[in-house]
Amino acid sequence: MKTTTFLSLFLLLNSHLHLSAQEPSSLSSQTLLLTGQGSPVLIGDQYGLVKEAAVAFEKMTQAAAQDSIIIQVVSSYRSFDRQLAIWNRKFTKNETLGLTPEQNIKKITEYSTIPGTSRHHWGTDIDLIAVEPKVEGDVLLARLFENEGPYAALKKWMDEHANSFGFHLVYTKEEKRKGFQYEPWHYSYLPTSKKYLEWYLNLELESILKNKNILGEEYFTEEYIQHYLEEYILGISSELLLQKKE
Ligand SMILES: [Zn+2]
Repeated sequence: MKTTTFLSLFLLLNSHLHLSAQEPSSLSSQTLLLTGQGSPVLIGDQYGLVKEAAVAFEKMTQAAAQDSIIIQVVSSYRSFDRQLAIWNRKFTKNETLGLTPEQNIKKITEYSTIPGTSRHHWGTDIDLIAVEPKVEGDVLLARLFENEGPYAALKKWMDEHANSFGFHLVYTKEEKRKGFQYEPWHYSYLPTSKKYLEWYLNLELESILKNKNILGEEYFTEEYIQHYLEEYILGISSELLLQKKE
């Protein structure tokens, strides 16, 4: 077994303690919501977030606009099916490039989640860029947010102000963080997503990922899922992790 950090060990224990008796074949409505298979109530023009996150987001964009930063949403709520399409498209492409299934899964999970495990399913997380300056091609590249990059002013503003509106970077540059690569565009509305993470850790990931037409799903062994949980799902900014309860 891999060495487990104290925090994730606590989270795992915590999640097991909360497991309730459940029909293995019927997923609860909460499970469906947390895995992008429900029908969440979403608010927003040009994006979709749960209400409290949308209200905070509107306040933040207005404040940014006063400082001449016009925020643009690239991605917000994403359903399981949408994530499945992304995953399977990448898997098929990597396969034609000659990657083994293991290499393929590793490559996709540099930036993309396994369907059913995306924080974008929650309606609390959002990918942001600035309207100006215009950038051609792929806009979600870390270098565009650094140094003299086109989104450096946005990043600087967000570094200074986002937390006061409840938004936090998820996939930070922290050295000790594992899992997904650094994503300077991906923010989470902490007051809601922290709660959702706690609920999410009570779910049976293995059954959620089974028989969903996810390419490569036969490689999601118990051991792999444990690794994915510890390094990817919990490989987030320490600010977003649950605190130890006494
Ligand atoms: Zn994202």
